[in-house]
Amino acid sequence: MKLAVYGKGGIGKSTTSCNISIALARRGKKVLQIGCDPKHDSTFTLTGFLIPTIIDTLQAKDYHYEDVWPEDVIYQGYGEVDSVEAGGPPAGAGCGGYVVGETVKLLKELNAFYEYDVILFDVLGDVVCGGFAAPLNYADYCLIVTDNGFDALFAANRIVASVREKSKTHPLRLAGLIGNRTSKRDLIDKYVEVCPMPVIEVLPLIEDIRVSRVKGKTVFEMAETDQKLNYICDFYLNIADQLLASPEGVIPLELEDRELFTLLSTF
Ligand code: ADP
Ligand code: MG
Repeated sequence: MKLAVYGKGGIGKSTTSCNISIALARRGKKVLQIGCDPKHDSTFTLTGFLIPTIIDTLQAKDYHYEDVWPEDVIYQGYGEVDSVEAGGPPAGAGCGGYVVGETVKLLKELNAFYEYDVILFDVLGDVVCGGFAAPLNYADYCLIVTDNGFDALFAANRIVASVREKSKTHPLRLAGLIGNRTSKRDLIDKYVEVCPMPVIEVLPLIEDIRVSRVKGKTVFEMAETDQKLNYICDFYLNIADQLLASPEGVIPLELEDRELFTLLSTF
């Protein structure tokens, strides 16, 4: 199963991705997480450090694929989740899609791409160029992380449009929304009423999640020594179980921008 996690910058994609990856591994799956954000910190809480990116490694080897070994680019992180960072195109030049393409190409050359039960792509989602939609070419399911605010739902709606487009040529479904860092969900509910899709889980703002990031750990790792954090792990285990049940998902139809403005205006 291939998953692509999208959402507005800073919404909690990487936090959610790392914890879902561990949750899937806890369910016995062999998991690879691929960070596809030029920020290249997707897997930081899994490995505890910023691992070398695929693009930097390829550049250092003059793009001689045959000189790259799996251990140069694939790092085992917490919970036996393997980690890869695609890296970014040169600032102001190049294309995010190219970076993702090179990453998948290299992983195939290394015979790693087909070795996993689950590959999770952690992708930024307020960039709307085609390049950042590239992981959707490989994904069975897209997941969108959002809060209960206009900006994140606006980004979500853009991603929905990309999923709708890609699903014409790929067997891709939108598994649904994951609400994050919000105790309210009225706008999320308004959105899915008009643009029907599952809401898989809604996580509140939890100080321990923020603290775990500062400590360079996932909540699963922190929960080893602090059992009162287990309730947070349960959110992610619940998401993992839903995904492993092969949900039907949807092929969504985005709203027009103006429609979305009207729907979400609170006055
Ligand atoms: P993204 O990958 O979307 O850019 P991150 O996963 O890096 O976002 O999260 C941004 C910040 O929000 C991090 O400091 C993270 O610890 C924090 N965060 C994410 N989810 C939650 C949550 N449910 N409660 C509290 N803080 C959170
Ligand atoms: Mg991130």
